[in-house]
Amino acid sequence: MVVTPWRQARPNLPESGCPFCPGGLEAPRPYRVAWIPNRWPGLPDGRHEVILHSPDHDSSFPALGVAGTARVIELWSARTAELGARTDVSYVFVFENRGRAVGATIDHPHSQILAFNLVPPIAQAELSQATCDLCGDPDDRLIVARHPAWLARVPWAPSWPYEVLIFPRRHVADLPTAGPGLRAGLAAILVDCLSRVERLLGAAVPYMLWVHQRPTTGQDWPAAHLHLHLAPLLRRPGTIRHLAAAELGAGVFFDPVDPQAAAAQLKTATGPS
Ligand SMILES: [Zn+2]
Ligand SMILES: [Zn+2]
Ligand SMILES: [Zn+2]
Repeated sequence: MVVTPWRQARPNLPESGCPFCPGGLEAPRPYRVAWIPNRWPGLPDGRHEVILHSPDHDSSFPALGVAGTARVIELWSARTAELGARTDVSYVFVFENRGRAVGATIDHPHSQILAFNLVPPIAQAELSQATCDLCGDPDDRLIVARHPAWLARVPWAPSWPYEVLIFPRRHVADLPTAGPGLRAGLAAILVDCLSRVERLLGAAVPYMLWVHQRPTTGQDWPAAHLHLHLAPLLRRPGTIRHLAAAELGAGVFFDPVDPQAAAAQLKTATGPS
């Protein structure tokens, strides 16, 4: 746990308009994508950053399209490389909380990076598995989308009813080693998956997105296979799925949607929204 009492003072919404719009408090100059230190950091020493996705306040990854999304992913990759090179950083955690329901205080499209000085427990648990789950034969019934170099599927045991795992077909460890070609493919499948989620659960669907990649400790991490978790907060349009006592106290997740049914719905959620 990280105790961050100074964050209690941060405003729910700044009073002087959006701080992330060009000309705003945090982004005084024009930009296409940008990274800034978090003014209310969860970790000290410049280890908490904000990534601005677009100057357009109302944008989103589907609205940015593949090229615009690829610019954001290029920045995630560059920040991963730079932060990961620090001796006080063992794990670069890239994530997005989208929507008020998931606690985003500012609507302007942005993601965040926490550069931990340890390998976080969930990443550690995934990395300690003997075989790479993502290199195994995928269950066809869980596949959401197939792209030339990437796959998207519902996990065997999702924590969120419409959770999707997005991963390269090759065993690639992290964003920097993926290279620009593979990262462009990630932009395409991410836009594809988010468009499906929006069609199925509504355009304003709140979601969480996070990247799991190789720790930056310098050791060999043979099980590290780059992937993204996309976790919409809803269990059906308009209805939030709450994590409550059973999940947090017992660590057992009760999934109201059959994973294969979730995959089938996402798979067929194509075409104009
Ligand atoms: Zn804005
Ligand atoms: Zn693998
Ligand atoms: Zn993971």
